[in-house]
Amino acid sequence: MPFGPPPKLNLRNLILLFALAATLATLANNLLVTYGIQRQALVQNALEANRAYAAKLAASINENLAGDLERLRFSANLLGNVPGDTKQMALEAERLLTQDHSFNTVLVADAEGTVVASKPDSLGINGQALRSREALQQRRAMVSPAFRSLAGNLIVFVSHPIWGPDGQYRGLIGGTIYLGKPNALDSLVSQHFHHDASNVYLVDPDRKVLFHPDASRVGERLGANPIVDAVLKGESGAMQAVNTRGVEMLAGYASVPLSGWGVVAQQPLAAAQAALEELMKRLLAGLLPMSLLGIGLILWISARISRPLRQLAESAAQPERAEKALRVKAWYAEAWMIKQALLAGLEVTRAKLGQLDQQAKSDPLTGLANRRAMEERLQAWQRLGTPFSVISLDIDHFKRVNDTFGHDTGDDVLRQFADLLRQSCRERDLPCRVGGEEFILLLPEAPLRTAAEVAERFRARQEATPIDPVGQITVSLGVVHWSPRGGRSVQDVLKRADELLYQAKQAGRNRVMADEIRVFESIS
Ligand code: GH3
Ligand code: MG
Ligand code: MG
Repeated sequence: MPFGPPPKLNLRNLILLFALAATLATLANNLLVTYGIQRQALVQNALEANRAYAAKLAASINENLAGDLERLRFSANLLGNVPGDTKQMALEAERLLTQDHSFNTVLVADAEGTVVASKPDSLGINGQALRSREALQQRRAMVSPAFRSLAGNLIVFVSHPIWGPDGQYRGLIGGTIYLGKPNALDSLVSQHFHHDASNVYLVDPDRKVLFHPDASRVGERLGANPIVDAVLKGESGAMQAVNTRGVEMLAGYASVPLSGWGVVAQQPLAAAQAALEELMKRLLAGLLPMSLLGIGLILWISARISRPLRQLAESAAQPERAEKALRVKAWYAEAWMIKQALLAGLEVTRAKLGQLDQQAKSDPLTGLANRRAMEERLQAWQRLGTPFSVISLDIDHFKRVNDTFGHDTGDDVLRQFADLLRQSCRERDLPCRVGGEEFILLLPEAPLRTAAEVAERFRARQEATPIDPVGQITVSLGVVHWSPRGGRSVQDVLKRADELLYQAKQAGRNRVMADEIRVFESIS
């Protein structure tokens, strides 16, 4: 292995590897980018929805309280004009209680804070001192912080002062709202449209929970919580913050100006993210079929791209089966160019080999077949059982030609002699130069007699064809026949032809000696 072991990776796997990596990277990138954008959008949407909802709810509560105070003002004006009329007070309280469902109880107190009229009658607090003293002291329309009532309920107290016609303070008229019990405020807050685990709560300026979907938390005083801090400062807005219980929340908040309460609409971040995870799963499910299709396409195309190159490489590796390259479908430019180059290279190699073969089998001086070509041909005929005749030729007194005219002229004579020999035989015959001025003519399927006639014709023709500047030259010939039935080896046949040629020389040259019979003899 001069170049080391072959690499383990092939083109198909390389294409596959890169294409798969690219596909997976694109898929992952799509998912990541979508996740990032969607997460931000989801958080923004949740914050905005909660902010809008809190603002709307706070405005509704404020409007509600404003309506309550307006009704109380009306009654306070009425009662201010009839001081001490407890019957009228009771009537007015009754009217306020039943008019709508704003209040759970209604009471009228005198300037000292003693309850003088109250509804419903079952309350039974007439003559008792008011629990919430703030309104008495401040003598203005107000909403109290949450507190425990005489009856033990958690309540807020909405009240309006009663002024006499002389401008004297005569007490107050007020309604209580029971937190967590059916009333207008409760239905307003609990009508919350619940979505994605969101909830709404109401907190008063003392951080006490006035309303909460978890009823057990009503009345609880909230600890550190940036959302509560912000809303109790009178701010409205939205924020992502950790609540009292350590849960990350997306909260919208707004304050109720009349009472100083805060409305918080919120949703755990995890709930928003759960929706996002669902979205990502759906996205992945949507992308996956196309990605799988893409991978299938990559498998197919990588096989199609690599196939012609692999086939070309295989045929280049096996020169004996190089024709396979002809059948390779080179459907793209590079493969086509490689195929052309391979076939062209093959053609050149073949031509070169053919040339080398020709050179190895031919005699450079005359261009006739050499001894090796002759032996190959004889062996082939013998193998096939093709009968043949052999004529062995030797130019007479050739030494003299060389001695008289020089070696170059001698070569020229040899060439002309070869030309004449070539012209004197059939297409199928094989004229060979087997030594200096020794030649052999092979005649397939020619009987001895025919071969002897060919030999004689050539002898006569050569004798009659003078070669310039040498003049006439003659040749002696021996003729032998081989047939499969004869049982002679090729060597025996050649040896016999030489013997006959020698006999022709002995007999005076310029003659033909054929096996068994001496057919012709020169007259010279
Ligand atoms: P013979 O009639 O007995 O054949 O006499 P010859 O002179 O031809 O004798 P022989 O066949 O023994 O001599 C062959 C001569 O041919 C010897 C050599 O000088 C010459 N010869 C051999 N090869 C070449 C060659 O390639 N070129 C030339 N010019 N002469 C060659
Ligand atoms: Mg000779
Ligand atoms: Mg000779």
